[in-house]
Amino acid sequence: MKHNRYVYYFSEGNKSMRELLGGKGADLAEMTRLKIPVPPGFTITTKACAYFSEHKKWPKELEGEVKKSLARLEKDMNAKLGDANNPLLVSVRSGAAVSMPGMMDTVLNLGMNDETVTGLAGKTGNERFSWDAYRRFLQMFGNVVMGVAHNYFEEVLEKIKQTKGVAYDTELNADELKKLVADYKEAIKQHAGLEFPQNANEQLKLAVNAVFNSWNSKRAIVYRELNNIKGLAGTAVNIQTMVYGNMGEDSGTGVCFSRNPATGENVFYGEMLFNAQGEDVVAGIRTPLQLSELKKKMPKQYAELDAIRLKLEKHYKDMQDMEFTIQQGKLYMLQTRRGKRTCQAAVRVAVEMVKEKLIDQKTALLRVPAEQLDQLLHKTLDPLAKKKAKLIATGLPASPGAAVGTVVFNAEQAVLHGEQGESIILVRTETSPEDIKGMHFAKGVLTARGGMTSHAAVVARGMGKCCVAGASEVIVKEQEKKFIVKDVEVKEGDWITLDGSTGEVFLDKIPVVDPSLSGDFATLMKWADKYRRLGVWTNADTPKDSEVAVGFGAEGIGLCRTEHMFFEGDRIKAVREMILSSDVEGRRKALAKLLPMQRSDFIGIFSIMKHRPVIIRTLDPPLHEFLPKEEKDVEELAKEMNVSVEVIKAKTEELHEFNPMLGHRGCRLGIMFPEITEMQARAIFEAAAEVKKKGIKVKPEVMIPLVGAVKEFELQKEIVDRVADEVMKEKRIKIDYVVGTMIEVPRAAITADEIAKVADFFSFGTNDLTQMGLGLSRDDAGKFLPLYVKLGVYNTDPFQAIDQQGVGQLMKICVEKARKANKKLKIGICGEHGGEPTSVEFCHKLGLDYVSCSPYRVPIARLAAAQAVIRK
Ligand code: ADP
Ligand code: MG
Ligand code: MG
Repeated sequence: MKHNRYVYYFSEGNKSMRELLGGKGADLAEMTRLKIPVPPGFTITTKACAYFSEHKKWPKELEGEVKKSLARLEKDMNAKLGDANNPLLVSVRSGAAVSMPGMMDTVLNLGMNDETVTGLAGKTGNERFSWDAYRRFLQMFGNVVMGVAHNYFEEVLEKIKQTKGVAYDTELNADELKKLVADYKEAIKQHAGLEFPQNANEQLKLAVNAVFNSWNSKRAIVYRELNNIKGLAGTAVNIQTMVYGNMGEDSGTGVCFSRNPATGENVFYGEMLFNAQGEDVVAGIRTPLQLSELKKKMPKQYAELDAIRLKLEKHYKDMQDMEFTIQQGKLYMLQTRRGKRTCQAAVRVAVEMVKEKLIDQKTALLRVPAEQLDQLLHKTLDPLAKKKAKLIATGLPASPGAAVGTVVFNAEQAVLHGEQGESIILVRTETSPEDIKGMHFAKGVLTARGGMTSHAAVVARGMGKCCVAGASEVIVKEQEKKFIVKDVEVKEGDWITLDGSTGEVFLDKIPVVDPSLSGDFATLMKWADKYRRLGVWTNADTPKDSEVAVGFGAEGIGLCRTEHMFFEGDRIKAVREMILSSDVEGRRKALAKLLPMQRSDFIGIFSIMKHRPVIIRTLDPPLHEFLPKEEKDVEELAKEMNVSVEVIKAKTEELHEFNPMLGHRGCRLGIMFPEITEMQARAIFEAAAEVKKKGIKVKPEVMIPLVGAVKEFELQKEIVDRVADEVMKEKRIKIDYVVGTMIEVPRAAITADEIAKVADFFSFGTNDLTQMGLGLSRDDAGKFLPLYVKLGVYNTDPFQAIDQQGVGQLMKICVEKARKANKKLKIGICGEHGGEPTSVEFCHKLGLDYVSCSPYRVPIARLAAAQAVIRK
């Protein structure tokens, strides 16, 4: 095979050539090899696109190669591009290595002009069809290649439909279509400032360039950004013989899935239209029919299609998303690809395919994107509240989940409000690729038109976002910022609730409830546990969180933040009293009030966690976080402490820090005020003693935060050990406990060997380690980090996924040094990263013992940990 080859005939490619031929091209080639009926054609490679993007012209070999393949196609089809009597028509279709639905451009019916329109009419004996093909071509070519906005064509079409008094374009006859063609040409001339090119070869060249250019269109770039698609050369271009679904009622076009993409159920699922072409189904021009209609009307073709879906699924061993067209009773396949699916469907399909012996357990585990498991754990509407709520419309259950929010009617508003953290619902007649960013920021999406395979539905499912599509009673008045449904008017800013699993739309807010997980989910998790090596623990501060996490499979608590308990009810008063006391006696008095409260918290958590390890971190945040800010609270506190308001204010002033995150916090507090650590240790061990007496085998682990030097750790450990001894003697009971430290100050990572000699465990606090390692303030970096990621300074936000080259190296050095110094040392991670799949994989590779993450991310970590093993 020559290296600089830019064109492949369909019969020359196969499914392994996605990088070069794009997904669409590779799979068209594969289907051709499988002897599935695919209209013949050829593919221009992604490398040609890359060359074009760089040099703004074709590589010199391309012209000749296209000519050669075109000649071959003309011979195979026994027709010629641009031939007045016997014209060949082709589609020019984009397709990158990664599917980007609707993101790039496609032109159908290329080769139509004033001469070939007559030739095609003669050849097919169908004048109306030929003019319909011509006007469709003018519209697509005018838009995609010549840059004339859709609405100019829509206006012309609307006008003709109105004068003729018809509702659908299918009702226009040949003469009316001729008039439409003339008007379209006029519109192109007027808005593009250029004559529509009659020469078919010129059309082809221009269309190929338009597809090349669409790779760098704004919406394609945004799509790649949002989906983190990087490192692709460009799009391939497929040039394919046209087949016609618009040749009458014995023709049609559709989109189908080999299984239900919303639920994963193993049933043939799809939508189609008779007498329609191309994008009609997806664009929501007419409301599509279910495949059952095809079965009724054309049982033979339905059976053939059904056999193809089974063949393709067996061949690809995965759920397929297919496009087909029937031309006068003859079925053609136009595309197959891996079907996008909801997480619920992904889990069900993966588990069922193992049972069907199509794939093995390891493959199944890799089939479910760990990050997406989140969707399954999302909330649903409270069934009782739902019964009482006002149902205003029902559409298609396009993407499951529940969404509660205020209504907006365009993407800009969605972004504006969404970025501020408001819950909003984007309501549109139908969405288009320009709406992607708005959808991203919306909690849910509601559309009035379009089916289960409409743009809104496909994109929402991909995003794991609740979506109700095609709620046809909803009349959206985007200009007036309201929608009307029967007698109800909903304005911008009003609350609505969507149920994406049923397609229902409700007025007002409805409370949501936690999900219950399916048997398939449990099966998949069981497999994950079988393969993973990493332990999966949770970050939980309350008995309730602990319970949820254990339900999700948490094997311990990796981080219990004691300070989170400090804000509740009366406690904050005692905490403030402690902080503002000027001497040890005052602090002890306040701490004595806190002791029983902390003890009871720990009793609650130990009782739920039972034998599982519980890591409790001593006080960490800078003290000013607890101080009263409101005048009223200041007064109250002054009274409580029997001092003047001024004294309180002066103290507050004294505690002010310029750099609180690098200030008096973490172990620095316990070193300066040992009585705080004493009280916390006492609460922990007294609680442990009490729970142990009930016959529960507790295992408290005390964790010292923000250690940078071994001496800091030793000073704190001394206190903990002393208090533990005291409590054990007082209660006459032995408690099995350990003391360890967080690794979050870079100095600690570098001097890990020293610290490891005296510590029982390490836990990476990657939030602070990232903050200090990169010198990036977590609270301020938001302003420029997105730009940094965009410019490729960092591959991803280092606070979301571990920066493996930087922070990751600190971790690596730490683990190596620490393990050498202390073979028995347990090492884990308890930063936000502990539940992020790429970070979990990294922790696996580093050889950590466990990861700890928030309760709802526990299943994600379990799956990611298994995937890390399988991928290796
Ligand atoms: P997308 O990537 O946006 O799905 P496609 O290249 O698949 O774009 O084209 C969109 C639609 O156009 C297809 O689903 C199909 O219905 C129609 N189409 C494309 N090529 C042909 C063809 N050769 N004959 C008939 N219809 C076609
Ligand atoms: Mg398209
Ligand atoms: Mg397609």
